[in-house]
Amino acid sequence: MSQPDYYAILGVERTASAEEIKSAYRKLARQYHPDVNPDDPEAEEKFKQINEAYEVLSDPDKRAVYDRFGHTQAPNADFGDPFGMAESLFQMFFGSGVAVNPRGPVDGSDLRADITITLEQVLHGATVEVEVERQRLCEACKGTGAEPGTSPERCPDCQGSGRVRFTQTTVLGTVTRVVPCERCRGEGEIVRTPCRQCRGAKRVRQRERIPVNIPPGVEADTALLLRGQGDSGLRGGRDGDLYVVVSIAPHPRFKRRGNDLVTQLNLTFPQLALGDEVEIETLDGKMTLEVPELTEPYTELTLKGYGLPNPRTGKRGDLYVRLGLKMPKKLTDAQRNLLRQYAELSGVRLKRYADAEPTSFFEKIRRGFKTED
Ligand SMILES: [Zn+2]
Ligand SMILES: [Zn+2]
Repeated sequence: MSQPDYYAILGVERTASAEEIKSAYRKLARQYHPDVNPDDPEAEEKFKQINEAYEVLSDPDKRAVYDRFGHTQAPNADFGDPFGMAESLFQMFFGSGVAVNPRGPVDGSDLRADITITLEQVLHGATVEVEVERQRLCEACKGTGAEPGTSPERCPDCQGSGRVRFTQTTVLGTVTRVVPCERCRGEGEIVRTPCRQCRGAKRVRQRERIPVNIPPGVEADTALLLRGQGDSGLRGGRDGDLYVVVSIAPHPRFKRRGNDLVTQLNLTFPQLALGDEVEIETLDGKMTLEVPELTEPYTELTLKGYGLPNPRTGKRGDLYVRLGLKMPKKLTDAQRNLLRQYAELSGVRLKRYADAEPTSFFEKIRRGFKTED
């Protein structure tokens, strides 16, 4: 049995790089594309060959098998080894979508889902539902593929082995290969009445909401593993896992710094200068914060234990409160005069008011003005 020379079809050397193969394929595919050559059976055939060649040569595994066996037409070669050659060829002919061993177990795929939670949920932990589309065993037929009340039968063509021997005589001798049984597609059994629910596929794709336990203190970008919650396996293959990747929504008030939280509270100059008792919101609710006299702007006060829990120890971090300075949006005349007076009393010369009438009695004296009354 001779296979076409895929390298010749694409017009590349046997040593061609993946890039060279790709660009040769693109060029030829454009040239022979059926859209460009309507009603040209020759071009159509050529186009098919190009695609076939590319499918093999663009896949490193398939290419390796092809390089090894593609043109090896040794006399009386027995390619009957069911675990070596036959499987590679099987893979090559049927593509990677089909399992290497058609009767063996097929593992379900692992899946990923993303969720976004709030800082409050990080603090307390939560159970959040995540929506996942996954392939699960059909409940109607319990994964047999046969309509309930019927059951799959042993394939008469291969007697249940899933494989048939295929012998061909060529000028070079007899070549025997083991190929997957066509009738049962290598499964060894056939379903006469396919299950109506899954149309015999054994699995059904379904959208489901799956509850996910979020542990307190979870860090951003953590992937939570839910074992067996991915796609179902077939024929005893393991069920895939579900990875839930956690994002944390930005909070309007708090920033996260490890297990600590940072927030900013803007106070007025009199509050910072004279000290005050102010109400502050924490993740645990409102509480009172003592602002000492003469607090520098941008001081950080620490509220011990008001941060987030350490995911391992449960011990909570701290809440840092940065005290900013809140400017008024506008000043009344009375406020302006008092501020000028404050500046004068503090020895601050305000250029803007250098020529203006002083506001304080002492400044009037200092500048040698006469008081008006
Ligand atoms: Zn079914
Ligand atoms: Zn069969």
